[in-house]
Amino acid sequence: MEARGKTETVIRGIAASRGIAYGQAFLYLQSELEIPRYHVEPSRRIAEIERFDQALITTRQQIAKIRQQVSENLSEDEALIFDAHQMVLEDQALIAETIREFESTGLNIETCFNAIAQRYISAFAEIDDEYLRERAADIKDVTGRLLHVLLGQTAKQLTELVERRIIVARDISPSESAGIDRSAALGIVTDNGSRTSHAVIVARSMKIASVVGARDLTTLVDDGDWLIVDGYEGLVILHPTEETLFRYGKIQKEKSTFESRLLAANELPPETLDGVHVTLRTNIEKSDEVALVKQYRGDGVGLYRTEFLYLSATTMPTEEQQYADYRAIAEGLAPAPVTIRTLDIGGDKPLPSNPGLIGPESNPFLGFRAIRLCLEHPEMFKEQLRAILRASAHGKVEVMYPMISGVTELEAANQRLAEAKAELRERGQAFDEKIRVGTMIEIPSAALTADLLAPHCQFFSIGTNDLIQYLLAIDRGNNRVASLYDPTHPAVLRVLQQVIDAAHQQRIKVSVCGEMAGDPALAPLLVGMGVDELSMTPPLLPAVKFVIRAMKFSDAEKLAHDALAQTDVQRTHELVDNFYKRVMAAD
Ligand code: PEP
Ligand code: MG
Repeated sequence: MEARGKTETVIRGIAASRGIAYGQAFLYLQSELEIPRYHVEPSRRIAEIERFDQALITTRQQIAKIRQQVSENLSEDEALIFDAHQMVLEDQALIAETIREFESTGLNIETCFNAIAQRYISAFAEIDDEYLRERAADIKDVTGRLLHVLLGQTAKQLTELVERRIIVARDISPSESAGIDRSAALGIVTDNGSRTSHAVIVARSMKIASVVGARDLTTLVDDGDWLIVDGYEGLVILHPTEETLFRYGKIQKEKSTFESRLLAANELPPETLDGVHVTLRTNIEKSDEVALVKQYRGDGVGLYRTEFLYLSATTMPTEEQQYADYRAIAEGLAPAPVTIRTLDIGGDKPLPSNPGLIGPESNPFLGFRAIRLCLEHPEMFKEQLRAILRASAHGKVEVMYPMISGVTELEAANQRLAEAKAELRERGQAFDEKIRVGTMIEIPSAALTADLLAPHCQFFSIGTNDLIQYLLAIDRGNNRVASLYDPTHPAVLRVLQQVIDAAHQQRIKVSVCGEMAGDPALAPLLVGMGVDELSMTPPLLPAVKFVIRAMKFSDAEKLAHDALAQTDVQRTHELVDNFYKRVMAAD
């Protein structure tokens, strides 16, 4: 069908900020900056370096100004990104390398700075980690700003957006996001980007629909074209027909009623209709997310990924720095608990502050990572264990080891923990003598020997992200095999059940902290299999709690029983989907 003379086209991207928007496109295409290249006379070289220093100062002032505007107009949380930008500008390595490049080539400072910055951007952009890839975006943003200053140009802003329009862009940098007029933007769609892009953060804070990763959308859209942004399903519908518009009108109404119901129900306890309590915790990566945990009513933190403390620093964090960070979380959450996972570096998470520690590997996911690395570097490991133990004197802290493959490793890790405790006793520093110790079950060998691991710890936490990748031999970061990554594969379900049973036979609790736990359609299956706790990204909690409150535990048990009996994966998907739809429809 056609509307306004143009054919309806549906483009699939990544759902980034919930909501539905309908409006005209504001096509925002940034032109590439042209950087002149010329030799600087030897007599002008000192002046050229001074020009660079002056540009650094001006850019810092500009960023400080934007930071203040964002903090006042959006929130302090979103303003923090500009601290990261200031850090790029203060990066001595970047500055020193630019000057070295200038001294060796004699080329103008814009050319030298751009060459070095591009090298950094590509190095970060290639890393298979969303968080670090975002750092590439930070460097790119700051580089563009500094180059504009050096060239005496003003960066293009999104300030031309005056009517209520949907922004369609290749990408939107944090500085550009800061220029968006909140009352003028109906939605944001970008060709590139990920769920953690800054444009998305802004969209979420503005509570407007956003879809990213829409590939070549900007080549299909003309300024003023009509489109729908479906931030729930990650769809962009260009030139929607009257029929589609009618359907979306209904969806929009239903969704907003549903969202308010979710949030209202989130104030109530996570209990099934037949009275079974399911503990719902959260996964965090930074200590400042404690506020988010509370906002979404998480019962503490089930997974604190401490590696981000190491990843974001230019030097390895000291025991004192770690202690301060862990203590802040423990105090912030008390009396609710925090499970602090020891360093899970390696695999898809390299260590910028100490790249030599791991070195190049042909199979990093099967390589020198997490507990393997920590056990080979006992002093570094114990520094972290002492910091965690000391924080345990200030709240309810649990410690958990990642990537345990068998009993020998678990015993070795416990041995280091015992040494760390003895060292603190000697120093006279307080800690919780009865700190609970957990093991992540995310390697098939650990899952298959769960009965042997259980006597050496107080709880299990199943890391389904890695467990599924290893069980099904599917690289979790590889898009080409992503469709084969199936959490309901019979092998996965059997192994999960085996781990849960092994834990319960030895009276220890079992949690799931992989992404599967935050999927409202899969949570009933996990609960039905006997999982005691689910831990997920805070904003996912209301939807999971809602389904738990709307179902009976006995029905979830039956679902798990039926799913385990299936040989046909398609049928398992149907069982899970139908259960979810039935429960939601009945509520
Ligand atoms: C997991 O593997 O499921 C997990 C929670 O750990 P991470 O995603 O940090 O590897
Ligand atoms: Mg893992």
